[in-house]
Amino acid sequence: MSPERLVYFFGNGEADGDRGMRDLLGGKGANLAEMTQMRIPVPPGFTISTRVCTHYVQHDGAYPPELTGQVEEALRRMEELVGRRFGDPERPLLVSVRSGAAVSMPGMMDTVLNLGLSDVTAESLARESANEHFAFDAYRRLLQMYGDVVMGVPHDRFERALELTKLNAAVHSDAELGGDRLRALVETYKGLIRDAARRPFPQDPHEQLWGAIGAVFQSWGNRRAVRYRRLHGIPDGLGTAVNVQAMVFGNLGDDSATGVAFTRDPATGERALYGEYLVNAQGEDVVAGIRTPHPIRSQGDGSSLAERMPAAYDELARVCETLERHYRDIQDMEFTVERGRLWTLQTRTGKRTAAAAVRAAVEMVAEGLIDEATAVGRIDPGQLETLLHPSIDEGDRFEVLATGLAASPGAASGKVVLSADEAEELGLAGEQVILVRQETSPEDIHGMAAAQAILTARGGTTSHAAVVARGMGKPCVAGCKEIEVLPDGSGFRVGVVTVAKGEWITLDGSTGRVILGRVATRPAQLKGEFRTLLEWCDRFRRLRVRANADTPHDARQAIEFGAEGIGLCRTEHMFFDENRILQVRRMIFATSESAREDALESLLPLQRGDFEGIFRAMDGRPVTIRLLDPPLHEFLPRETDDLSPVAAGLGMSATALRAAIARLAEANPMLGHRGCRLGITYPEITQMQSRAMAEAACDVIGSGGKVALEIMVPLVGVARELELQAAVIRETVDAVLAERGVALPYAIGTMIELPRACVTADEIAKEAQFFSFGTNDLTQTTFGISRDDSGKFLHIYLEQGIYEADPFAVLDTKGVGALIRLAVERGRAARPDLKVGICGEHGGDPSSVAFCHREGLDYVSCSPFRVPVARLAAAQAALADSSAEARRVLEDRLAAR
Ligand code: PEP
Ligand code: MG
Repeated sequence: MSPERLVYFFGNGEADGDRGMRDLLGGKGANLAEMTQMRIPVPPGFTISTRVCTHYVQHDGAYPPELTGQVEEALRRMEELVGRRFGDPERPLLVSVRSGAAVSMPGMMDTVLNLGLSDVTAESLARESANEHFAFDAYRRLLQMYGDVVMGVPHDRFERALELTKLNAAVHSDAELGGDRLRALVETYKGLIRDAARRPFPQDPHEQLWGAIGAVFQSWGNRRAVRYRRLHGIPDGLGTAVNVQAMVFGNLGDDSATGVAFTRDPATGERALYGEYLVNAQGEDVVAGIRTPHPIRSQGDGSSLAERMPAAYDELARVCETLERHYRDIQDMEFTVERGRLWTLQTRTGKRTAAAAVRAAVEMVAEGLIDEATAVGRIDPGQLETLLHPSIDEGDRFEVLATGLAASPGAASGKVVLSADEAEELGLAGEQVILVRQETSPEDIHGMAAAQAILTARGGTTSHAAVVARGMGKPCVAGCKEIEVLPDGSGFRVGVVTVAKGEWITLDGSTGRVILGRVATRPAQLKGEFRTLLEWCDRFRRLRVRANADTPHDARQAIEFGAEGIGLCRTEHMFFDENRILQVRRMIFATSESAREDALESLLPLQRGDFEGIFRAMDGRPVTIRLLDPPLHEFLPRETDDLSPVAAGLGMSATALRAAIARLAEANPMLGHRGCRLGITYPEITQMQSRAMAEAACDVIGSGGKVALEIMVPLVGVARELELQAAVIRETVDAVLAERGVALPYAIGTMIELPRACVTADEIAKEAQFFSFGTNDLTQTTFGISRDDSGKFLHIYLEQGIYEADPFAVLDTKGVGALIRLAVERGRAARPDLKVGICGEHGGDPSSVAFCHREGLDYVSCSPFRVPVARLAAAQAALADSSAEARRVLEDRLAAR
C-alpha cells in the first residue's frame, strides 16, 4: 500500500488537488490548486495537508514519518519548474510559507516570506537583481518574520531597531534606506535573534523551511486563532494546511507592486473591480495597513494601478472575470506584479457587508450566474440584521471632526477607548465604546468584538480592521489620516482638537465621517435588491413569520419588514408609560374590589386605544395579544426613590406606600406572582383587558376595518389555569360582541413556557386553540437559570464550553427543544388543528428558526428588526430540507465566513 499523500503539488497547469478538497488543503491550498489547473498565473508550490496539523497537535509537534520525503520531492519539482535550487549559492529558490485553514481565518495564523535567504544567497540575490536594497530588505524581512514567528523574538525589538536605523539615516520609510544601512540592520537583527533566542538564525534553508512549517502548525493553537474560532464557532479539530510557494516580488522597483482585489465592491456589491495596491511593496504591507495604499481602479488622479501599470491591470481584470465566472461568487484575491508581470497568490470567497452580499446575489441571478435558491442560500441571516441598522440622521446637527475611508457601513456612537483590552472590559460592563487605534492587528480581535465601531488612523479598506469589522457587521472608518492617536493613550487629536478617552464620538462607516458627540440615527428601510431577495425567500419558506410588537409604530415597522402578523403583543409594555403608571399603581394598591375596578376603568380606554391602533396597522393580519404578565412590583417605585410624590398621587402616606412595596416584593419574581397567576387572583384585570380588545375590535370593524384577534394567556402550567382564564375571556368578549352586534371569530390560546406545560400539553391543548412557545421562560425554567442573573456566570460557562452557546440567544435543541417536540406532539394529538408558534427571542435566531422549521411549527415571531432574518432563515431551512445542492451552498457560505 502506498503511503498516505500528505503533500499536494501545484504548478505549470497541473495540480494534485482542486477546490473540492478544502478540508484537506485548506481554502488557500485548494484554490491555488484549482487556479493552477485553470492556467491562471500562480507561482508553483505545494500544500501540506491539514492531516499533518492534526498529527502535529496530537503527537506533541512530531510529523508523520513519510512527510519529509514528500516535501523533498515537491521541492525538487518546484526547483525544476522555476529553474532555481533551494539553497543554491548562485540562483537560490526563495519560498513563502503560509497557513490556510478550511475556514478562512484572515490574519490569525503565521506567515514567513523569503525563506531560503542567508548570508550567502542574499549576496547572490543582490548581484542578480542588481538591487542591493531589494536583496537586503528581503533578508531583513525574513529575519524579522522568522525571528518573531519561529524563534519567539518579540516583534517590537525589530521594529525599534528599524526605527533607529531610519532615524540615523534621517529617512521616513524603509524604502529610502540604502543597501549599506540595510546590511548593517541585517547584522543587528541577527544579533537580536542570537541574544533573545540563544541560538543563531539558521543559515541552512532546509532548517529554515522546517522551522517555518512547524511555526505555522503551532500558530493554529495561538491565542488569537483560538479566540477567532470561538467567536466564529469554528471547530478546533479542523487544523490548518501549510502552503509553500515560490516567491514572487512586488518590491523589485517601480514596475513591481502588490495588492488585493475584489471582483465586486465588498462594501456595496457594485459590479466593478475593486481593491488596493502598493508600488514596490512586499506581501503583507497592504493588509497590515502600514502604508495607505492606492486604489486599483482609476480615480482620475493618476495613482491607480490602471493608470500606472495598464498591462498588469488589464491582466488582473481578466483574471478576476475568469475567477468570478468559475467560482460564481465574489472573489477576493491577492496579487503581485513582478517587473510588470502579474501573479495570483490567492483567491477566496470575498467577505462582504450584508448590503454587498444582497446586491451581488440578486445581480448574479440577473446575470445568469446563479439561480434564486443559490442567491438565498448565499446570505448569512445573522449578518442581515446589520442592513436594518440605523444610519446617521442627516437632519440632526453634528460636527464632522475628520473623514477617513468608509470601510464598513452603519453608524454607531460610543466612548473613545484606545486599547482592545479596555474595549473588552468596558464592553463587557455594558458600555458602548468605539475602539480607536493607529492600526489594528489580529491581537485586537477581542476589543473589536466588544466595540460598537472601529476607527483607525492608518490602513486601507482592505486592512485588517476593515476586513474584520465587515465580517462582524460593525461600522468602521479606516485610514483616517487626520487623526493622531496620542502615544500616551490619553486620546486622539485632530488638528487643534483633542478628543480624550471616554468622550463620545459617532462613526459613520458608510461615508467615513468621524463625528464629535452622539448623533441621532434613522431606521433602515427595505428596498431594491433586499426586497427582491426576501420575496424569493417567501417563495421558498414554509414557516410563517410574525413579529413581537406592542405599539402601532412597531406594528407598521414589522409590516414594512414583511411580518405576516403579530405573534406577541406584550400588554405590560403599554402600562409603563409615565402617564399610565399612576393608574396601574392605583390598581395594585386597591384594597377593595371596587377600588380596583375604578382604577381598571380608567385604564380601559387607554388599552382600547392601543389595541385599536395596532389592529388598524395590522389590517386584518392575525394579532396575538397576551394578557398582563410581569410581576406587579415591577410597576412600583423603588424603595430608595423619593416616595412622597408617588404617595401623594395615590392618596396614601409614604409610610403606607413603603409598607405596600415591601409586601409585594418577591425573592424570585420570575417564579412569582406573574403570568396567568395575576389573572387568576385578579380576574378583573383579565376582564378589563378582554373588554378593551373586544371593544377595539368592534370599533375597527364598525369603521370598515378588519381584525383577526388571538388572545393569549401567559405562563400556564396547569390546564385548569387556562380553563379559568378562558372562561373569563370568553364571557367578557362575547358580552361585548353581543352588545355591539358584531360577529368576530377570535381564538384563545396559551403560551407554553414551563416544562410542566410541555409535558401536559395534551390536557392544555383541550383548552387552547394555539400554543406559542415562550422560549425565554422555557429556557429559564428548563435550565433553572434566571434570565436576569445568568450574566454573572454565563461567560465562564461559554468559555469553558459547558454551554455551546448562550441558551437565551440560541435555542438549546437538546433540552428545551426536546420539550418543545414533546409538547407539539402531545398538543397536536389532542387537537389536530392546533396552531403552534414560538415568540421568545429565539424566534429571530437563524439556527433556532431552522429548528422550528424541522419540528413543523406553523410560525416564528420575533422583534420587527429580525423579521427579515427569520424570513431568510426559514427559506434556507426549507431549501436545505429539499435539496442537497442548497445544503452545499449553505455549507460553502459557512466555510467562507
Ligand atoms: C418568553 O418567555 O419567551 C416570552 C416571549 O415572554 P416574556 O419574554 O415576555 O416573558
Ligand atoms: Mg415569558
